[in-house]
Amino acid sequence: MTQSADAVVVGGGFFGMYLALLLKARGLSPVILERGPDFMLRASYHNQARVHNGYHYPRSLMTAVRSRVNFPHFLQDFPESIVEDFDKYYAVGRVLGKVTADQFETFMARVGAPLQPAPERVSRLFSSPLIEKVWKVREVAFDAGKLRLTMRKRLEEAGVEFYFEADARCLTHRADGAMELAVETNGGRRLYGTPWVFNCTYSGLNRLRYHSGLPLLPLKHELTEMALVQPPQELQNLAVTVMCGPFFSLMPFPDRGLWTLSHVRYTPHHAWKEGGSQSGTEAWQDAYEHFDRAVKSTDGPLMIRDAARYLPAMSKCRQEGSLWEVKTVLPQSELDDGRPILFHRDPEMRGLVSLMGGKLDNIYDIPQELAALGLGM
Ligand SMILES: Cc1cc2nc3c(=O)[nH]c(=O)nc-3n(C[C@H](O)[C@H](O)[C@H](O)COP(=O)(O)OP(=O)(O)OC[C@H]3O[C@@H](n4cnc5c(N)ncnc54)[C@H](O)[C@@H]3O)c2cc1C
Repeated sequence: MTQSADAVVVGGGFFGMYLALLLKARGLSPVILERGPDFMLRASYHNQARVHNGYHYPRSLMTAVRSRVNFPHFLQDFPESIVEDFDKYYAVGRVLGKVTADQFETFMARVGAPLQPAPERVSRLFSSPLIEKVWKVREVAFDAGKLRLTMRKRLEEAGVEFYFEADARCLTHRADGAMELAVETNGGRRLYGTPWVFNCTYSGLNRLRYHSGLPLLPLKHELTEMALVQPPQELQNLAVTVMCGPFFSLMPFPDRGLWTLSHVRYTPHHAWKEGGSQSGTEAWQDAYEHFDRAVKSTDGPLMIRDAARYLPAMSKCRQEGSLWEVKTVLPQSELDDGRPILFHRDPEMRGLVSLMGGKLDNIYDIPQELAALGLGM
């Protein structure tokens, strides 16, 4: 039997959850389908937990400005998830970098992001032949476990229906103009008739499209690893990002009581593309299956060794594990490392919308996109 729904949100990551709340506030009764056993177990958990404040994007004006605008909103909307018990420093490398200290300062002045020279006791920690300048900034982390609880509570309070272990497989047109979504559940198969399907499946975006015979969206996927580390005493409560090239970033990962170490050279183990110029079903592979099959042999020691060239105390980091995930970005982001939101309405299946944010605060771009669909407040 086919069940009907005002809107189906496929994917119970942060974006799917947030979107469902927006739809509910607009008078619809959305249903969330999540293939995993709980909310936010994929990219919305396995990330560097940074609430962006503009500093990370010195080559993309739009992304930096949007991050600055979104930052206070995120802090206000999710106060229980915010962790700020550390000092954050950005540094610029002298060699191999894509920006100089002067360029970084000029850019941040343009986007209104304050930079304070790091105190001597902190800049001394860095290797001066390799690091040109260090600044103290305001950037915070979020606790992904707490964010999951907050979002689930909000969905429950709003009365949004959701199902776990519900894998949306395939969409077809119905004669009445609506769509029919076939879903595999652990109890069998379910069908939804609905005018709106919001595909919020991040690295799985093309999976539903492929099985529905629709052209692939151009996406780049990376198998990523961030080392989970315990920093040494001299780096306690000190988060560091070295910009902007083959460098590293150390951030708290509050849900585990550890820190993530990412490295531009070692975090992506390998990458693959789909859609775009190679569009066609043959270019597609299931990102989740790819992830499950991939050999996950840690590059944590390489990350630590290279980071220690810039910040020698990093050599004393103890690796406790790794966070692995498929990171998905839009191919155009390779030019300037920007992170725009993808909000794509299918030209043929007009009720199918694919939505992907390159960072969590991109949720604040969704309301205006909904308004453009006629789903404004
Ligand atoms: C290594 C890494 C570091 C990052 N660092 C940061 C950072 O510091 N700050 C920041 O803001 N952002 C960061 N990001 C980006 C951020 O994680 C993503 O923008 C965000 O999590 C995307 O959320 P989402 O809900 O779209 O995706 P996800 O959280 O992946 O949710 C998609 C959900 O869809 C489900 N799903 C997939 N297919 C189906 C299907 N067919 N049926 C039902 N359910 C399905 C999946 O199980 C999953 O739960 C990082 C990402 C990575 C990978």
